Amino acid sequence: MEKIYDTIIIGGGPAGYSAALYCARNARSTLVIEKLSAGGQMATSPHIENYPGFDEAVDGFDLAEKMQHGAEHFGAETMYETVTKLELSGEIKTVETTGGILKSKTVLCAMGAYPRELGLKKEAQLRGKGIAYCATCDGMLFKNKDVIVVGGGNSAIADALYLSKICHHVYLVHRRDSLRASKVYEDQLKDSGIDIIWNSRVVDIKEDGIVRGAVLEDVHTNKLREIACDGIFVAVGRVADTALVKDQLTLDDHGYILADETTKTNLDGVFAIGDIRSKPLRQIVTAASDGATASKFVEEYLMRLK
Ligand code: NAP
Repeated sequence: MEKIYDTIIIGGGPAGYSAALYCARNARSTLVIEKLSAGGQMATSPHIENYPGFDEAVDGFDLAEKMQHGAEHFGAETMYETVTKLELSGEIKTVETTGGILKSKTVLCAMGAYPRELGLKKEAQLRGKGIAYCATCDGMLFKNKDVIVVGGGNSAIADALYLSKICHHVYLVHRRDSLRASKVYEDQLKDSGIDIIWNSRVVDIKEDGIVRGAVLEDVHTNKLREIACDGIFVAVGRVADTALVKDQLTLDDHGYILADETTKTNLDGVFAIGDIRSKPLRQIVTAASDGATASKFVEEYLMRLK
């Protein structure tokens, strides 16, 4: 007979594996589908200092593996496939993957978010040729070179600080005259040697097949200036990965799945957890919290189905 899971969780980040841990501990058949490896965005950060329980910074990849093993220890399964289609209405949900079709009574959307692009004409063609979205993944490719980091949030500052230890020179280009980063990051910027270029945005990329520089525009005067560089790290926020569900689930004005603290979406038996959910703070600890909370309402829902 065809297997019907109690819970299928799409995405193996901190939200996904926290939910998997709690659901498995409730003795529910629990499957996590992950396309690459555990951790999501967290796995790309080698220094996590704000997840409770560690004296020193913890490596995101290691933490992800521990979360996965913790959930699997209680019986959760992991499948490495890409989900291609979801049918989320009705009592039995269908999850189509590159490996076949699966059925489940509940689905937890934990697909997270991906980096927002600047929207420049040559951006896509230069990806991997000087345009990058992850400093910890690609930083070493720019050892002793000059780079620009674009953005003014925590990600941009963390990336700029990380790159300042590897690269010859780092410019931080921000479109306003103040940052939206935590104080702890702002303090570290002071003696970092990073050149902050305020009130400016990147409007064009200089290239000859690979990045050679950027054209910046002053947002007040519209004056243009050129900066020679080998790499441009884009750190201007993230976009919720809702392509699979946007026609079935209600999204908020920013494109995140609309769900309150219960993590319940507009469809019965479908939950949104982690960075993909509308919420005021996207952190590992709030993602993990979503996973645990969802398990309570998954359990309530499954009990009602009987
Ligand atoms: P964010 O906080 O949304 O900041 C995005 C930054 O990019 C803003 O400064 C924004 O400018 C700028 N921006 C947006 N679109 C732009 C465009 N088209 N061109 C130029 N600049 C643009 O995003 P984030 O830094 O990725 O952080 C996301 C979440 O992760 C936040 O909640 C953050 O606290 C968290 N995070 C935490 C840590 C940590 O605590 N260790 C590290 C990284 C991220 P404006 O300021 O003008 O809007």
